[in-house]
Amino acid sequence: MQEFVEALLGVASQDTLILLTSVCMVLTLVFFIAWRRWVLPSFLYAHLTVLFLPLLVFAVSLNCTLPFATSLLSLCTLVLTQVIILLIPTAALTAIIFGYALMPVWIRWHYSAKPISLSTLVKPANRAKSRDGIKGFILDTGAPLAFAARNAVFISVGMIELLTPKETEAVVLHEIGHIKRGSSWAKFSIAVGRYLSPLVRYWAPSLIDEEAAADEYSAQIQGTWKHITTARRKVEEF
Ligand SMILES: [Zn+2]
Repeated sequence: MQEFVEALLGVASQDTLILLTSVCMVLTLVFFIAWRRWVLPSFLYAHLTVLFLPLLVFAVSLNCTLPFATSLLSLCTLVLTQVIILLIPTAALTAIIFGYALMPVWIRWHYSAKPISLSTLVKPANRAKSRDGIKGFILDTGAPLAFAARNAVFISVGMIELLTPKETEAVVLHEIGHIKRGSSWAKFSIAVGRYLSPLVRYWAPSLIDEEAAADEYSAQIQGTWKHITTARRKVEEF
């Protein structure tokens, strides 16, 4: 009787697993297509979740009803397999949360960046139009660099030397535009996704729209497209 019940449970869970895997495979594609279309990180995380869900359920459903788990040694292997399978998503999740939270700290350390008040780069009237609470850091390198990470704008000495003050302001506003739109989270999510999903690795969407939108934000606050356009040209020609 016990064998019968165990066999029944085994078959049922296998069927459920097959059904779950099929549904997840379809959803994996659906979320991926939605993410490519709208570039919202939530679709990317939904895609990654359904990609790994069958593996998680499989790990949890591994039990002693399986024939190979009858001896003590096999039980040991079973537990180890479960731990390893469960460890992958846990490690990925931890890496995502800590990676994003600590990204500005890591960049500061990597480039030995020093804090700079954004009001020295953006005139007060324009600063007032953008959200506060954004930190500025200066990178000690001759290369013209500027980027946003979480809630911080990084700009290099090389960039400030290459551009006029108005163009520098345009670039800083462009980066603030990225922060306001959450592009930094979108970019970070793509970088993480590349390691976890082959679809993301080979068919990640282009972020060209994000660039255009950040430029537009900058132009809107400055009231002209002139400075962001000349700044972009100078950086490209560098
Ligand atoms: Zn940009």
